[in-house]
Amino acid sequence: MDRNSYIIYIIDLFEKNNLGHLIDADKAEKLYDLSNLLVETNKMTNLTAITDEKDIILKHFLDSATVCDSFLYEWSILDVGCGAGFPSLPLAILRPDLKITSIDSTGKKITFVNRAAELLGLSNLKAICTRAEDLVKSDREKFDACTSRAVARLNVLAELCIPFVKVGGLFVAMKSDKGLEEYNEAEKGIITLGCNLRNKNELTLADETTVIAREIYCFEKVAHTPMQYPRNYSQIVKKPL
Ligand code: SAM
Repeated sequence: MDRNSYIIYIIDLFEKNNLGHLIDADKAEKLYDLSNLLVETNKMTNLTAITDEKDIILKHFLDSATVCDSFLYEWSILDVGCGAGFPSLPLAILRPDLKITSIDSTGKKITFVNRAAELLGLSNLKAICTRAEDLVKSDREKFDACTSRAVARLNVLAELCIPFVKVGGLFVAMKSDKGLEEYNEAEKGIITLGCNLRNKNELTLADETTVIAREIYCFEKVAHTPMQYPRNYSQIVKKPL
């Protein structure tokens, strides 16, 4: 699509998916530039399996947009395992008030996210190449919210993410439609880590050809995470809480 057709198409699709309040022509233009940058960079460096322009809109941009309304004005947000910048890059475009830190253990993905943020003028996002278990040593309970998509099952993800969240803040886990099974498995551990389920949002996203089901689990931090968590990664994975 050329720039103008893209802007009309994406604004219309956000509106049809009840996300129209998040977008305007300037933001749509930034998403167009991000899409092109992702596709171009992906030809040289493997960043994402999703490369079709309309799939990128639905499965990366609209999906990332579903967490936008979870966060209060000017909150600090950590995206754990951001990969090529999802949800954090669309979040930084759609919510310029947020202060976003994106982390991933893979250097080439972080190089891409920082380059995209610079080219798109997103001064509200910085990306760091690190593992969650390492960053937590310096950044424990420093963020208003922590979010993550497609990184680990909820019982593992919770131990990686919840220690970063301030008491009163949120852990927002983006899940597919199989989230309930993961939630049941993780519930006890999530309480041990200091969180309670605040709400679960089930939604579908659709374009002309595809419908995807999503579940967003939003947990409120009600108590400090005990200092023995997170354990080292092999323990987290071998014996989830
Ligand atoms: N969130 C992105 C998305 O939805 O497109 C990327 C998902 S990708 C399947 C999972 C990413 O999590 C990988 O890029 C991997 O390097 C990163 N990752 C896994 N465990 C991690 C950890 N403990 N700390 C930081 N990054 C991690």
